[in-house]
Amino acid sequence: MYSKQYIQKVMDLIIQRNPREYEFHQAVQEVLESLAPALERHPHYLENCLLERFTEPERVIMFRVPWIDDNDKIQVNRGFRIEFNSAIGPYKGGLRFHPSVNLGIMKFLGFEQILKNALTTLYMGGAKGGSDFDPKGKSNREVMHFCQSFMIELYRHIGPATDVPAGDIGVGPREIGYLFGMYKRITNEFNGAITGKSLNWGGSVLRPEATGYGCVYFAREMLKTRDESFEGKVCVVSGSGNVAQFTVEKLIQLGAKTVALSDSNGAIYDPDGIDQEKLLWVKNLKNKRRGRIREYAIQYPKSQYFENKKPWDTPCDCAFPSATENEISEQDAQTLLKNGCYLVAEGANMPCVPAAVKLFLENKILYGPGKAANAGGVAVSGLEMAQNAQFIHWSPGYVDDKLQELMKEIHDNSYRTAEDYGFKGNLVIGANIAGFIKVANAMLEQGLV
Ligand code: NDP
Repeated sequence: MYSKQYIQKVMDLIIQRNPREYEFHQAVQEVLESLAPALERHPHYLENCLLERFTEPERVIMFRVPWIDDNDKIQVNRGFRIEFNSAIGPYKGGLRFHPSVNLGIMKFLGFEQILKNALTTLYMGGAKGGSDFDPKGKSNREVMHFCQSFMIELYRHIGPATDVPAGDIGVGPREIGYLFGMYKRITNEFNGAITGKSLNWGGSVLRPEATGYGCVYFAREMLKTRDESFEGKVCVVSGSGNVAQFTVEKLIQLGAKTVALSDSNGAIYDPDGIDQEKLLWVKNLKNKRRGRIREYAIQYPKSQYFENKKPWDTPCDCAFPSATENEISEQDAQTLLKNGCYLVAEGANMPCVPAAVKLFLENKILYGPGKAANAGGVAVSGLEMAQNAQFIHWSPGYVDDKLQELMKEIHDNSYRTAEDYGFKGNLVIGANIAGFIKVANAMLEQGLV
């Protein structure tokens, strides 16, 4: 009871001190609520104000990003880097370029990243960054000029032992290339200050694939707890970007059939399933031509396109939300359950609203929260940092084995921890407590900093 009061007190303080940062409130609320059993068992966290310290970023950087567009007009965007927690390693987390980016979204993502990185077993602190810049519809030249201006400020805050950004929504290989190029020019150093780099210049094999592949590996462990495999399962994936594409690819390899994909304009349904050839077409559409998913239904006439629709009313066994936060509403969750969906693995960060999560847990379906299920991306980023530090390159087989090992360990650790605290099968509680305890103990051992 005492720990619940403490959690409420901290939550009230966070809402009061961080007004209008709704996504941050949501992420913190979800985590703090699930930590109650750990606080009961370890009262010294409370005595040492661990929650107050844990929810306050170590550093918040906001900066102006001026650039000139193709019509010679001056544009001004806002850049962010939230260096949230460095108790267990250098700050680490992606950069997001999307018009919706604001302080609350950056802080929610940075906060989640602390626990996610702790779960990987690697030495990485938590961070996130980005800008309200919208790469959609911009020329390559405009994207390059923006990235260069962004890095002219960011470079002074990052470094291989300080803070190591990577990609996220709107930041793929093209943007990483422009960002790293400018970083190298300013600092005159070629080092591992950014991950997600091209294979030609220091990137790790399987980094592009890692989040999607890792999410499916995680879900495979979830299925194993019921003695099941992916063979013949019908899956629905939202989004059609990096995470979605490689989720579909691994699902194909494991014998599942993906029947839906989406983007921010709508969703497609393909009753025959998206096979490797169709997936290659989607990759070309999204990564090269930068087109819309509606074109899929023109290319493959047996499929259908639904404008302004999400894919959650498509009957399926397994759902992989892989687009953005809060994309599964309570009603979407009800629809998924009604249609027989019994596994949800989050490729995206916080894609389910709290009421949807509650429904999944109450109905005891297999539910893998993002900070565990999508940790494969940052895990392979950690492996990229290790390779860069030694100026070596590991083989695809080695990195894939490592990724599978890490995803199994993240699953098993979350599962064991949940069971240990009396919540068998609840991976939300398991992942949050396991990640928190690791970081909290490191914070205590390092004193009041
Ligand atoms: P991409 O930019 O490659 O793809 C994002 C996809 O989601 C696109 O299809 C995009 O559609 C869609 N999308 C974005 N915003 C919205 C929205 N508001 N409503 C509906 N659809 C939307 O990003 P990623 O695949 O890298 O990231 C997807 C999710 O995975 C994010 O939540 C990210 O934080 C998370 N993640 C990513 C990791 C990574 O390694 N990349 C690691 C861990 C988590 P459109 O093209 O129309 O914008």
